[in-house]
Amino acid sequence: MGSMTNIENVNRILLLEGDDSQRQLIASESVKRFPGLLCPKPAAELLGQVIDAAARVVFLDEGLPGDAAYDLLATIRADDKLKDTRIVMLTSDSLDISRLRAFAGGADEVLAKPYDFGQILAITNTIDRFQITFWGARGTLPLSGENSLKYGGNTSCLGLNIGHDRHFIFDAGTGLRKYSRYLMEKQEGKFNGRVFITHPHWDHLNCLPFFTPFFIPGNQISLMGPPQGERSFRNLIDGQMDGIYFPVTVNAFGADVTYGDMLDGQHYFDGVSIRAFHLSHPGYCLGYRVDHFGRSVAYITDNELGNTPSDNDFMSRLAHFIMGVDVLIHDTSYFDHEYPAKINWGHSSITQVIELAHAAQVKKLFLFHHDPEHGDKELDLKLEKAIGLADELGAEFECLNACEGETWDVFNGEKLTGPAVSLY
Ligand SMILES: [Zn+2]
Ligand SMILES: [Zn+2]
Repeated sequence: MGSMTNIENVNRILLLEGDDSQRQLIASESVKRFPGLLCPKPAAELLGQVIDAAARVVFLDEGLPGDAAYDLLATIRADDKLKDTRIVMLTSDSLDISRLRAFAGGADEVLAKPYDFGQILAITNTIDRFQITFWGARGTLPLSGENSLKYGGNTSCLGLNIGHDRHFIFDAGTGLRKYSRYLMEKQEGKFNGRVFITHPHWDHLNCLPFFTPFFIPGNQISLMGPPQGERSFRNLIDGQMDGIYFPVTVNAFGADVTYGDMLDGQHYFDGVSIRAFHLSHPGYCLGYRVDHFGRSVAYITDNELGNTPSDNDFMSRLAHFIMGVDVLIHDTSYFDHEYPAKINWGHSSITQVIELAHAAQVKKLFLFHHDPEHGDKELDLKLEKAIGLADELGAEFECLNACEGETWDVFNGEKLTGPAVSLY
């Protein structure tokens, strides 16, 4: 389910806070509104407190005597009957190491002391969030003019927001500028998050210097992508902003920006599972699969599925990688009749994508990264053909065109109305 209303929430919050002064602080501002305020009982009775309260969200003090908080967390995580119980670990500091330990132990969120009642409500209201926003859905080059009004003309950029404060971006095509403007308007450019690049082709990278949060002190941003041969990802970013290709160098970044090489395999970032898969595209290009709350999104562009026997082997490995995802976003650059002239260009045609989505039993497919010769009319025609092919196969997934500015709730599969995302 999406976020719940405050009234329902308050009755099902349980605060197991061992620190007297912190408990008094919360009680003084909220005792009438917040019946879930409880002193933790001895460790042996903690689980009983959670069950008796039918708690939806448990705020759990990591400082309880012994290692009671982590013992309780492990017990709840191992109990299938309590799988919908969300845990917020209350840490004594905001250090990365404290967050890491809490997420590694299975906490859904982490809140550092001291905290107030407003923060408890804010976290409770966003704890189930798993949303994607398409900031740019086209490929290779942006498209302007009347042929791009329906689906937007910006190149690849996907926003992903999980829970209260975990923000991810996949690719820095021209759509990133739209996201940047949104962040400036809504929250003065505040952005703490992670940017993952699939590969350093222009349409996935060239908007990085236009993401204003990079220039705002106080922001913490991690920037990761695949190295190319001997060149680290950091080196590739420095290269495209070295003063010759672009006048502003990375030295102008005012935010705390860290860089890292991303390789295929399993990774965890802030308690979120992110797997990377080496795609079929010139250079080293990665597809990403994100899993959280038992839901999943796969972002697979730029990628050539192809028609040869070795392509079939690749296709079955990729189908395994994305098996059963709730949302698949896949490069659909070409109509079928265009593909023979574009073999080895690193992109896919409609039938190839539909066959992959069917084999992988995905729940929803977004066509993405279109040839720049294709305007809205062609995209509509592509979608019509894609739906027809899926019907012929007896496929059950829903098929849509990715549309710039749209936000989808991965948790319940619905499109959200109103503003794109509320971030903090
Ligand atoms: Zn591309
Ligand atoms: Zn590319």
